[in-house]
Amino acid sequence: MNNIYKEIVPYLLDWFDYNARILPWREQPIPYFVWVSEIMLQQTRVEAVKGYFDRFITALPDIKALAEADEDKLLKLWEGLGYYNRVRNMQKAAQIIMKDYDGALPADYDKLLLLPGIGTYTAGAIASIAYDIPVPVVDGNVLRVAKRITASYDDITKGSVKKELWKELYDIMPKDRPGDFNQSLMELGATVCIPNGKPFCDKCPVVHLCRAFHQDVIMQLPVKPPKKERKQEERTILLIEYQGKYAIKKRAAKGLLAGLWELPGIDEKVDYKKLSKELKDGGLTIEAIKSIGEAKHIFSHVEWHMIGYHVKTGQVPAEYTKANSLLWVNRKDMETLYALPSAFSRYISYLRNI
Ligand code: SF4
Repeated sequence: MNNIYKEIVPYLLDWFDYNARILPWREQPIPYFVWVSEIMLQQTRVEAVKGYFDRFITALPDIKALAEADEDKLLKLWEGLGYYNRVRNMQKAAQIIMKDYDGALPADYDKLLLLPGIGTYTAGAIASIAYDIPVPVVDGNVLRVAKRITASYDDITKGSVKKELWKELYDIMPKDRPGDFNQSLMELGATVCIPNGKPFCDKCPVVHLCRAFHQDVIMQLPVKPPKKERKQEERTILLIEYQGKYAIKKRAAKGLLAGLWELPGIDEKVDYKKLSKELKDGGLTIEAIKSIGEAKHIFSHVEWHMIGYHVKTGQVPAEYTKANSLLWVNRKDMETLYALPSAFSRYISYLRNI
């Protein structure tokens, strides 16, 4: 066991008392708020999460509301955060909580782990922050801080390294303030021992203990293998307008952006001539086609390189709508009722401005 972890506890707690950022879910650390915020924080920075959190909690103020929410409303509330399966899993978990736990998240780490979408990180956060149960959380921030403090060259992407750190932290968790200790480590990683660029060691409460600082190896730690290259995909995105409405369609139930609404498209970049032929072959009467520019969207493993066209049509055969599973919606409904992933934001903002 690394005794150094035991030594940092009082310094971190003291620092946290004076430096913790004021956050809505911290002011009221009720289990549901902690859960929602921690799931959101897995993919987005704290500052950006605030707005999403307020919107979500206002619309779905408790677990019952989440369990009963209509899917389109739920996905719309998650719009912009990506990783839509996370909110779908939250709803499944909420339904189980209503059925098995009288609508309250269980105050039990092992029971939390059994709920859909709740892994060791989220279970640890809910248990420690909302219920004062002394279990650690190990996220990227905690791993970075820990490996710098101990000047360890372990590969932090390995599950075994995360597990070992979890056990080491479990052994030294302060029983009276487990939630604050976890948050202090995460907060230090987010605001002082930062991931990109030089950390602010002059502001660090554990600089006197930090081995990476004393060995002058801060920028070499933590160790991560280089990321695999993302797959490159080309796409044509169509904003098809017909009688003042625009076509959207649902993506397949499995795979990237599963089950979400999207603008129809073609799985390659096509030029005006080819597009025009393809649409005419489908029976559409074209009134105008206008290029609306190129865009790029980066997912975790894939990059989309897109070209967009605004297509005005005078006639759309019912068979075309059926064969392509299109739904025709007006601008306002597209904005307010249907969640379109941020991959399409370039084209949605074009629509907003015409
Ligand atoms: S001294 Fe610097 S490198 Fe060490 S934990 Fe503090 S901020 Fe990170």
